Amino acid sequence: MAEADGKAQKDAGRGGGRLCCICQARKPALKRPKTLQQICRECFYAVFEAEIHEVIVENRLFKPGERIAIGASGGKDSTVLAYVLSELNQRHNYGLDLFLLSVDEGITGYRDDSLETVKRNEMQYGLPLKIVSYKDLYGWTMDEIVKMIGMKNNCTFCGVFRRQALDRGAAMLKVDKLATGHNADDIAETVLLNILRGDIARLSRCTSITTGEDGPIPRCKPFKYTYEKEIVIYPLTPISFYYYFSTECIYSPNAYRGFAREFIKDLERIRPRAILDIIRSGENFRISTSTRMPEQGTCERCGYISSQKWCKACVLLEGLNKGLPKLGIGRTRGPNAEPKQDQMPNGSRSMASKQCGTLDF
Ligand code: SF4
Repeated sequence: MAEADGKAQKDAGRGGGRLCCICQARKPALKRPKTLQQICRECFYAVFEAEIHEVIVENRLFKPGERIAIGASGGKDSTVLAYVLSELNQRHNYGLDLFLLSVDEGITGYRDDSLETVKRNEMQYGLPLKIVSYKDLYGWTMDEIVKMIGMKNNCTFCGVFRRQALDRGAAMLKVDKLATGHNADDIAETVLLNILRGDIARLSRCTSITTGEDGPIPRCKPFKYTYEKEIVIYPLTPISFYYYFSTECIYSPNAYRGFAREFIKDLERIRPRAILDIIRSGENFRISTSTRMPEQGTCERCGYISSQKWCKACVLLEGLNKGLPKLGIGRTRGPNAEPKQDQMPNGSRSMASKQCGTLDF
């Protein structure tokens, strides 16, 4: 009998599929993407939530009594983040006041549908929801912007506007911090993209679990070490039935990021640890002291944080309002034109770089 038990444990340990290799009691239901362990559903949910709790505690992401906005797009990452954070908040008495914060970019057939999902999440989790729209903040919807500029550079406008919209929404909610659903795959992709673009300023901060601590509203990423595949599996939990929105943005070109994503997925197939290793590599990059970094100041026009005379959103908006949308995309014209490119740090050159703003959630 003891021999049989030993064999079952050995098989499970090898991924033989007899028993869950964590509890050694139930049959495994899945192979865990992060570790390739054969585990049962119950252990998967437990370990998934426990790891996120550990990341929160070890990195001191929150303090008791803080007001936290969760960037909510209606997609899988932010939906799972809202659910897990409210669960952990109750289970471990974090003492947080949680809110959902959404941005309506004005993309018909995409964001209007995904916002319906967020509204449903608001009811399900009982978290107050605030929606800020590009139309109200900037006077333009993404539909109108794309009509003017076409499908090239649209993500530059969208990403810049979203970053600021989230900050403004967070200020309206008077929160202490903004939590976003960036997962380990997103961060590994961003490390790779920043290397490919030679964007040292972004490379140095893209792996930080908390950013913007010197600004008014820091942002944090509780899913920094959580694999996308596990976020996809997690909602199949019998404990909670909830919805998320999985359609891609209709204006998404993003070939460059798509290439990096595919590359990382290929690496992950061969070696799941590759995602964590890329993040570790990013964390260990040291910036040479001779690299000139952008100095942070405030935009002369709107007061938003900026390393230039005008913030990116104001430059882009000026171009749109003047019917010269390339003003903010080009390198030499406009109010921020004084420094020549060869005098600028790499990090301030990336106006034209594409980044799916969806990842800013
Ligand atoms: Fe905005 Fe992302 Fe759509 Fe680009 S792909 S327009 S960044 S939502």
